[in-house]
Amino acid sequence: VSSRGEKIVVVGGNAAGLTAASRARRLDPRLEITVLERAPHAAYSTCGIPYFLAGDVDQESLVRMTPADFQRERQIEVLTSVRVDEVAPSRRRILATRTDTGEAFEARFDRLLLATGVVPNVPEIPGTDLPGVHTLVGLTDALRLAPELEGAAQAGIVGAGYVGLEMAEALIRLGKKVTLFEGRDRVLPGLDADMARIVEYELRRNGVRVHTHQKVTALAGDGDRVRSIHTGRSLGSTPVDVVLLDTGVRPNVELARSAGVRTGEGGGIVVDPWMETNLPGIFAAGNCTEAFSRLHARAVPGYLGTVAAKQGRVAGENLAGRRTQYAGSVGTIILKAFDLAIGKTGLSSDEAQSERIPFTSARIEALDRAAYFPGAGKIWLKVLAATDNHRLLGLQGVGYGDVARRLDVAATALTSGMTLEELANLDLTYTPPFGSLWDPLHRAAQAALRNLSSPG
Ligand SMILES: Cc1cc2nc3c(=O)[nH]c(=O)nc-3n(C[C@H](O)[C@H](O)[C@H](O)COP(=O)(O)OP(=O)(O)OC[C@H]3O[C@@H](n4cnc5c(N)ncnc54)[C@H](O)[C@@H]3O)c2cc1C
Repeated sequence: VSSRGEKIVVVGGNAAGLTAASRARRLDPRLEITVLERAPHAAYSTCGIPYFLAGDVDQESLVRMTPADFQRERQIEVLTSVRVDEVAPSRRRILATRTDTGEAFEARFDRLLLATGVVPNVPEIPGTDLPGVHTLVGLTDALRLAPELEGAAQAGIVGAGYVGLEMAEALIRLGKKVTLFEGRDRVLPGLDADMARIVEYELRRNGVRVHTHQKVTALAGDGDRVRSIHTGRSLGSTPVDVVLLDTGVRPNVELARSAGVRTGEGGGIVVDPWMETNLPGIFAAGNCTEAFSRLHARAVPGYLGTVAAKQGRVAGENLAGRRTQYAGSVGTIILKAFDLAIGKTGLSSDEAQSERIPFTSARIEALDRAAYFPGAGKIWLKVLAATDNHRLLGLQGVGYGDVARRLDVAATALTSGMTLEELANLDLTYTPPFGSLWDPLHRAAQAALRNLSSPG
């Protein structure tokens, strides 16, 4: 099929949308490609925002390419401050508004990509609309938050997810008094409790006041702005000058739904393996979708930039007329909180239980390189594997050394369906400055195998 003159419109100008646009352009120089972004900025590193707010990097460094760069280098038209209000699938048109001038804007498409990301979940408690209360999903939020941090001495963070933890570090480094509230029994509820405890220790060691098992019931103000956080427990109230809500996100699908695009149980846009929706020629990618997870063997929402970029790439190929399938994710994530690297690939114990997979687990403590070598850092690895066929189910890693490498090897092993026996004998690198003869990952797999051979 010749794509000469075909017009591609992308809604959302960040990780998924711009990866897709760039990939489509590379495959087909004849396509006409327009990306519409409602914010005044596009193509920035959302993942760098905590470091921008901490003062480590400036706003310009977060922006990878400007709209002018996209036009010049890739012949992609990126229009910022354009909000798409309606998709008319049968007329192959989008209707939009220029948010700076209020002017209406209409564009025709042959193929459309929805890459609209997420919206924050705001808890239904009093006071979330007070000045000084923030959510953080993009640069617009960060630019709203930054000036308020200057005058704030006491910050409250509601929710101990990865953004909450990265922000706790940023705020401590800015000299704020930081109190972190989490309704569940642990920080980072996606980790097992024993691994999360190590993280909690690191937060406290660095001055974060951590309150787990504490449901925030209200935010209160003095009319002017937020002044305190209230919890259901005896803790009473905590004085604050600014509050960050890290209480989850959900796919941003209003535009899609009103156009007749189907959404699923997880709330995301349902796509086929080619990232196409139920409406022919309308694709979706990134955090607004629910897409295939290799571990769950079904579609689940995945709120990471890594997932968004890969889905965007697949969508871009298919927008350009190819037939490329999305391979699925294994849920790999890493973050930094103070001196600790924290990450996971695959399933945690809670997740394996809710998938009803019988499993064994083993946790080891090790150094990330030869014990006698200067700079060796302690790390903890916890491996999970299926009891019946010994297939690896997940790895959690926390530590003061190189955790990322172990997680990446485990992610690769998970993707290829390796067993503990295979993992325990993998031919990995070794020299004293970088590792151990038996890598901590080997040792974790060996420990889990011992559990299997001597149950109970
Ligand atoms: C503080 C922070 C740190 C993070 N750190 C990491 C990390 O270290 N590693 C990692 O993998 N992930 C990280 N993430 C997650 C990652 O940033 C997201 O998963 C990723 O940005 C999702 O990409 P996306 O393109 O799907 O959505 P987004 O990046 O959210 O982009 C969607 C875009 O669509 C636009 N849009 C929505 N509706 C419309 C409309 N109607 N018209 C026009 N435009 C519209 C939005 O304005 C937005 O710019 C982090 C997120 C945050 C908030």
